[in-house]
Amino acid sequence: MADALLAGRVEGADVAPAPFVMAALQVYWTAMAAGLEESQLPVGAFGLCPTCGTPPVASMVRIGGAHDGFRYLCCPLCSCEWHLERVKCSHCASTKGIAYHFIEGGREGVKAESCKGCKSYRKIFYQEKDPFMEPVADDLGSLALDVLMGDEGFERRSGNPLLWQDTGD
Ligand SMILES: [Zn+2]
Ligand SMILES: [Zn+2]
Repeated sequence: MADALLAGRVEGADVAPAPFVMAALQVYWTAMAAGLEESQLPVGAFGLCPTCGTPPVASMVRIGGAHDGFRYLCCPLCSCEWHLERVKCSHCASTKGIAYHFIEGGREGVKAESCKGCKSYRKIFYQEKDPFMEPVADDLGSLALDVLMGDEGFERRSGNPLLWQDTGD
């Protein structure tokens, strides 16, 4: 089951235990990533985790220290975070036609960053609004924003490892 989940295959599988298997894999991958030296990291492709190659679940604008206001993409598998300039599509790297969407009256610091060019989006969380934002959990906690983005015709580029649906196709 772990192999199937890591490969993103859920067709016909029992998806009920998937979040628990995935949570265990996160712990294992995070421990492996934490043991790597910087010199051991492969040079990753744009938009993928430089440590394990997984697409980011969301991005986070940090507060404090030397990297105050910097935006990082967040790996949902090994917990690695890597820098990406702000106002730039995390899928196609375009800096044009980037827009921000949020639920009117919804939680502050939770937005979707959309790209007109590739018609996709990923969520972006702002620690200045809540320093305890957590990319995987707060992504799950803001599914209404996914519904809004779907209604506006944008496609989500990568899923949440704790949310599995058997689509049956
Ligand atoms: Zn990773
Ligand atoms: Zn794009």
